[in-house]
Amino acid sequence: MAKRVAIIGGGAAGFFSAICMAEKKSHLDISIFEKSNTVLGKVKISGGGRCNVTHHCFDPKELIRFYPRGGKQLLGPFHTFGPTQTIEWFKKYDVKLKVEEDGRMFPTTDNSATIINCFLDAVDHYGIKVKTQSGIEKLTPLENGNKGWRVNFQHGGTSDYDAIVLATGSSSNFWNMLKELSIEIIAPVPSLFTFNCKDARLKNLAGVAFKQVKVKIQGTKLESEGPLLITHWGLSGPGILKLSSFGATHLAELDYNFKITINFLPSLNEDEVFEILNDFKNNNSKKQIITGSCFSEIPKRYWQQLVELLQLETKNWADASKQEIRKLTLSLSAAEFSINGKSTNKDEFVTAGGIDLKEIDFKSMKIKKYENLFAAGEVMNIDALTGGFNFQNAWTSGYIAANAVNESLEG
Ligand SMILES: Cc1cc2nc3c(=O)[nH]c(=O)nc-3n(C[C@H](O)[C@H](O)[C@H](O)COP(=O)(O)OP(=O)(O)OC[C@H]3O[C@@H](n4cnc5c(N)ncnc54)[C@H](O)[C@@H]3O)c2cc1C
Repeated sequence: MAKRVAIIGGGAAGFFSAICMAEKKSHLDISIFEKSNTVLGKVKISGGGRCNVTHHCFDPKELIRFYPRGGKQLLGPFHTFGPTQTIEWFKKYDVKLKVEEDGRMFPTTDNSATIINCFLDAVDHYGIKVKTQSGIEKLTPLENGNKGWRVNFQHGGTSDYDAIVLATGSSSNFWNMLKELSIEIIAPVPSLFTFNCKDARLKNLAGVAFKQVKVKIQGTKLESEGPLLITHWGLSGPGILKLSSFGATHLAELDYNFKITINFLPSLNEDEVFEILNDFKNNNSKKQIITGSCFSEIPKRYWQQLVELLQLETKNWADASKQEIRKLTLSLSAAEFSINGKSTNKDEFVTAGGIDLKEIDFKSMKIKKYENLFAAGEVMNIDALTGGFNFQNAWTSGYIAANAVNESLEG
């Protein structure tokens, strides 16, 4: 009789793992169990409907820097199956990927349906069973030397399997169930969110963007550099998302109330900014301050708002006192903002937390304390910045778990 494998969760990691498993061992009886009535829901909405499949970064050492949690553990797995193998894998199924300027990789169709169809065709081809509305609520290891598992369905009934792949993503209920099996779970907190900030300097400036700023969270070592975007609610952009991700746990502890310092001119120190402003004042004494700054990095609308708030809007540069130049300097080099709350980043959001990485053998994605129990994707305490890295974790761990299941059920 064919050995039976249950993949729990019909998302990116579950599908990828099932297909990789079947590619090498077509005689396995593989079923994907999905609790909702549709599979691959997140793939569909991912990357704004375009699905940012992976990132154009082929050095595992470089790649792991994008993972605030799990980077160290993924170094080995990325050598086995990284973006290079991901691109080749999809090519095999006639899905071509293209790279954008910032390194993000999408299907050339710019449509997540291409990825979904690829997976659905493959499961069909390999005879993998996909069962929706089949939530799993309990797992029990079989006894008497049997290495398999008994699975309890939410709608009633049980079934036994030789191996299980946990691919339930960020499901609190499922994590609670795993705790009953004495598997350590790191409490979930949001990652990749934007900062809410009500500040007169930002009022009516939604859409104004800065190419490169440095943001620090006061009282911590957390800081990041990158583009910044003013939104209706506060601050967003890669620089902010990166901080939200690396600071996910700490910022949750602060209940999302904290202060940040923004350096809008990160390539200059405070004294240099002061000097440049002074030189500008001396050479443009008859010009109104509000007409423009000497820094091309500062968007005109932001500069004008700043000048008005500092009550310099009627002054010429000649009338600006040393103290006023000092205030302008600080507003550009070390501007303090109070953050009160967070908002969802619509392009991509993930949860930090999940199966404690100590529980997993990263050569096989096996849960160390059990036989034939493997994990893939976001169910583990792994998450990354935006850019295709979260899916790469799903592909890499899904592939490794698939190989390990095959090896374990050999013979
Ligand atoms: C809006 C949005 C856009 C995103 N865009 C991108 C992107 O472009 N690029 C990128 O890299 N990442 C992106 N991400 C992150 C990425 O979608 C996730 O990291 C990835 O989907 C994780 O895959 P997974 O299979 O581990 O989990 P999921 O995709 O969440 O799949 C888990 C599945 O398990 C099911 N399940 C849960 N509990 C049970 C149970 N008890 N029994 C049976 N089934 C169960 C769930 O219903 C779900 O279908 C985005 C996320 C969001 C929310």
